[in-house]
This record gives sequence, C-alpha cells and structure tokens, in this order.
Amino acid sequence: MADQVRHEAGTLPGAQAMRLPADMLLVASVIFCAALFGIMTRPVGFLAAFWPANAVLLGLMIREPRLASFGGWIAAFAGYVAADLVTGGTLRMTLWLTAANLTEALTGYVLFRALAEDHRRMRWPQSIVVLFAVCCCAAAMSAFVGAGVSTAYFGRDFATSLELWFSTELANTTVMLPVMLAAPRLADIRLPRRIDLSAQGLRRATPAIALAASILLGSLIGGPGSFAFPVPALLWCAVSYSLFATASLTLCFTIWGMVIITGAFADLPADTDLVAWGKSIRLALALIALAPLAVASINANRNQLLKRLKDMVEHDEMTGALTRATFLERSERHLSQDGTAAVLMLDIDRFKSVNDRHGHAAGDVALVAFAAAVRAALRPGDLFGRLGGEEFAVFLPRATQAEAQALAGRIRRAVEERPVDIGDGSRLTITVSIGLALQATIARPSLDALLATADAALYQAKAGGRNRVETAA
Ligand code: GH3
Ligand code: MG
Ligand code: MG
Repeated sequence: MADQVRHEAGTLPGAQAMRLPADMLLVASVIFCAALFGIMTRPVGFLAAFWPANAVLLGLMIREPRLASFGGWIAAFAGYVAADLVTGGTLRMTLWLTAANLTEALTGYVLFRALAEDHRRMRWPQSIVVLFAVCCCAAAMSAFVGAGVSTAYFGRDFATSLELWFSTELANTTVMLPVMLAAPRLADIRLPRRIDLSAQGLRRATPAIALAASILLGSLIGGPGSFAFPVPALLWCAVSYSLFATASLTLCFTIWGMVIITGAFADLPADTDLVAWGKSIRLALALIALAPLAVASINANRNQLLKRLKDMVEHDEMTGALTRATFLERSERHLSQDGTAAVLMLDIDRFKSVNDRHGHAAGDVALVAFAAAVRAALRPGDLFGRLGGEEFAVFLPRATQAEAQALAGRIRRAVEERPVDIGDGSRLTITVSIGLALQATIARPSLDALLATADAALYQAKAGGRNRVETAA
C-alpha cells in the first residue's frame, strides 16, 4: 500500500509514458532468458524438464502491477517467441506454445488479482494452500491449450498430453512462483561482504549443509524413494531461514529431483511407461515442496507477529519512548558491558497546570511533542524511556561529563524552543527540568544508584527555579 502511494505520488503521467518502453524491454528480456533456460532443459521431442518462464512472468506481473499493461503482455509474448525462434522452433508451433504459456500466466494473474494482498505475499497461514489452488487452475488452463498443440503437431493422445502438460506446469509453477513472490526488492538485497566462517556463521549454515548432504545421499542410494530423503533438511531450512531462502532451496531440491528422474529413466525396464513415471514423480515433487513452503510461510508470519508484539510491549504507546521495564533492562545491560555512562532524569515543569488550563487531551499532545523533541536531540544508541506520567529518563552509554551536559542542555533548549500546537489554534510553551548523574562520580555504581542520584539532581533543578539542568556533584 505504502509503495503504491509513493508510486502514484512520485510518477507524473509523462514519466509513466516514458517508462513503458523500458518496462516492455525488461519483461521481454526476462522472459526471453527464462524461456531460453527452459529450452536448454528440453530433451528432444519432450516438454522441458524445468520451465520457469511462466511462473517468472506471473510473479513479475503480481509483484509489479504496472508491468501488467497491454504492452507488458505483448512484450512477454515477444520474449517467448524470440527464445523459441532463435533455438530453431517453427513459427506456427512457437505461436501455439506461446499461447499455452501466456494462458497460464494470465489465468494465474486474474486469480491472484482477486485475492487479498496478504495472500499474494504469502503472509497468511492458508496462503500456500491458496497459491497451490491458483497454480492448479493456471496449469489446467494452459494444459488444455498445450495438449491441443501436442495433439495437432505430434499426433499425441489428447488426454495423455493433458495430464503430462498439467503435471509439468503444476510442478514448475508451484516451486518457482514462491521464489518470485517472496524475493526481496533489488534495493533491499544486502550481499554479505565475506563468507562468515565463525562458529555462529557455520551454525546458521547447518540446515543448508544438511540439505546438500541429504541430496547427495539420495543421489548415491537412488531408487524411487530417494527424492524424499531431503524432506527433513528442507523442514529444518524452513524454520531457520527466510521464506525467500527456503523457497529458493526448495526450488534447487525440485530441480535436482527432476534431474534424478531423467537419470533414472535409463535404468528402468524397457517396457516402463516413461511418460506416466515422469508425470507421477513431477507431481510428487511439487506436493513435497508444499511442506517446507507452508512451514516457512507460517514461520515468517509468526516471526513478524512476534516482532510487532515485542515492539508494542517495549514501547510506550503514546510517546513511543521505551517502557519503564525495557528502559531499565537495556540500561542495566549497557552498564554491565560498557562500564561508563550518564543518566538524565527529566520532569516537565508545572505540567498539572497544563492539564488544568487546557484539558487532559492537550496535555497528551504536549507529552507526545515533548518526547519527539527529546528523541531528536539524542545520539544513535542513547536510550529514552518513560518512567511514569510526565517523568522520563535518558541513558547515555559511554558519555563523558562534557558530552552528557551538552546533550542535557540541547534537550532543555529543544523543548523550550518548540511550542506545541494543541489543536485549538493556540501554541503552548513547555519547559523541562533535568537532573544529571555520571557513573564515574558514584562510589558504588549501579543503575539504581545512578537513577537515585539523577533524581536528587532533578529535585535541585526544580528547587532552583525549573527549566534548568543540574549535575549531581
Ligand atoms: P513540577 O514542575 O513540580 O513537576 O510540577 P508538575 O505540575 O509537573 O508536578 P508533577 O510532576 O507532580 O505533576 C505530574 C502531572 O502530570 C500530574 C498529571 O496530571 C500529569 N500527567 C501524568 N501523566 C499524564 C498523561 O499521560 N497525560 C496527561 N495529560 N497528563 C499526565
Ligand atoms: Mg512535572
Ligand atoms: Mg512529575
């Protein structure tokens, strides 16, 4: 939603028109490359072993709706046709195959557009099931067109072609689409500068190593059940990594499974129905892939929810400052690690009279503005907490006396110089008294002692006339 607003606000109609050729070029080249990749996995006379282009197109259109214009679909058409023609396809057959491919992406796109955004981003527990249902419909629609082509051009049986096309497309889309939907935006991708060989880095890599090992084991042992060997490792990846990483690893697993099928064909008895075999194993691979995808989607969802919940628990709802308990806990942690620190105690001056004169709601507005002014004056890493009512505290890790006094002075001035608009047209000036305590000046330093000393200094600031900073001796 935020993206959409930014997009609409930041794009002039002229700029949008200028973007169309660039967008079309992007779609055409992506589809050209994806189709070329698929063609390279196509044994002569057979369907491609892995055909990612349709899911890539569908994913692009869902992620970037501006690409799903008439021009965008035409560009995709051109990409498919060009890839087929440069690899020696005949024009008529190319056009038919492209029609089947586009049917799949279009069906998926229409169905996805009817779904909630959260489903499109796989954020709900049922999202993988919904995605699978959409993939089934899209694969079925494309299978009808594709089977027609097979029957017309290769003289194959329509029902057999339908089953083969459906199972292939279902497997392709089910494993490729989640990668497209979960992929981070290009701007958000942060590649690690170096390979992390620390104990923690290796621990993080263990699920992926286990996956590689079980794939190797499956290849060595072989047999019809070997492609289920990596399932435990896939589930481990699903609870350890992001949805995108899990979807990518699941994709690797599926491609390996498809390669295994092709390799295993050579060992089968001569009278084996290879088409039926391939179909059955492809479907099995797609269905196996659903398990890690569902677990990863639910896990990502749960982590996000926990993060939001943690954020709510740790911050005061009204002012956004840390809650008392979180402020104390984090300050304690800093103190035990860094050794040196300073603490400020802040109390707004004559705040009761603000409430009495302007009402409690105006008092709340003033409190929010006060918190914003303090936050703006802080350095990164400083802690700001609401201890209760209109009393706040600031913890300054590793601050010297001069730094702490300068910062306290900045806060005092920022509050005084920023009158608060309290809604009825009037502007209200508030002031704050601040008590400062330095860890270095306390005989037996503890957080409690620091806070008590800062509180005593605050009391002096109030007694000395308010709107001032008092440093504990
Ligand atoms: P002093 O300069 O001595 O600090 O005077 P004061 O009036 O600010 O005295 P004190 O700090 O004891 O008063 C705190 C007042 O802050 C009492 C209460 O009405 C008000 N207050 C506390 N929490 C809130 C709040 O969340 N919203 C509003 N509007 N007022 C609050
Ligand atoms: Mg007060
Ligand atoms: Mg008070």
